[in-house]
Amino acid sequence: MKQARWKCPTCGHGLLAPTRPRRNDVRRYCLPCSSKAGVLVERVAPALDAQRAARDVARRERDRKTRERDRARKERASNAPREVAKRRYSKEGEHGMSIDRETARLWKLLAKMPTTLEGATRTISRVTHRDPPKVVLHKKGWRVEDDGQVWIRGHLGTAWQSGLIQVKPCVSWETLAHEIIHCAGYRGHDRAFYWALKWLTERRFGIIVDFSQVTRYGYAVDWMIEDQINDIVRAEFAKPTEPEPE
Ligand SMILES: [Zn+2]
Ligand SMILES: [Zn+2]
Repeated sequence: MKQARWKCPTCGHGLLAPTRPRRNDVRRYCLPCSSKAGVLVERVAPALDAQRAARDVARRERDRKTRERDRARKERASNAPREVAKRRYSKEGEHGMSIDRETARLWKLLAKMPTTLEGATRTISRVTHRDPPKVVLHKKGWRVEDDGQVWIRGHLGTAWQSGLIQVKPCVSWETLAHEIIHCAGYRGHDRAFYWALKWLTERRFGIIVDFSQVTRYGYAVDWMIEDQINDIVRAEFAKPTEPEPE
């Protein structure tokens, strides 16, 4: 059995005893000092105490290193290009457009759309009494290079009946507006859909969108609108940049 030197803290008398004496082991106590004091005087084992203290120090140091490693790992993960892009593009679209602010604004505008629009051929179905759609970033369909360049594949946005819109990084105003029209109850890419989009675009930027070249309704109309408002959208959202120092 491992032994340690136990010492009375009062008289200093010591002896060898097991490192873990039983509770009622008489060697735990200095009997002369106990009978003098009237209470049990316990012997101490300085070597054991020192060992325990050293163990505590080592354990605290180990814990500290583990915490530090975890923190560094978390920080690395949150700084990974994809995480940085995720944070940014959940809030911000093309040209720095604020996604939430623009969504709320367009949704509010839609409430003012007349129920019949010239050219729409059917009554407009507004679903604007609900909250504005919630816009979130698609989990898949895009990736980020180490240098921060974002690659996107597949369709740019998805609108759900529940009022959820999923977009990919750097969503354009056109795509956002397109999905918002879907959320307002226009499911197909038909004439009514595009006349609602035309109305919303005109209202938002105070312009006239020319549909005189439209022959059939589909994505080509989105590109046609995009061509007509590209510069206006850029001017609307582009943040003023600090002039370069000479
Ligand atoms: Zn003693
Ligand atoms: Zn669509």
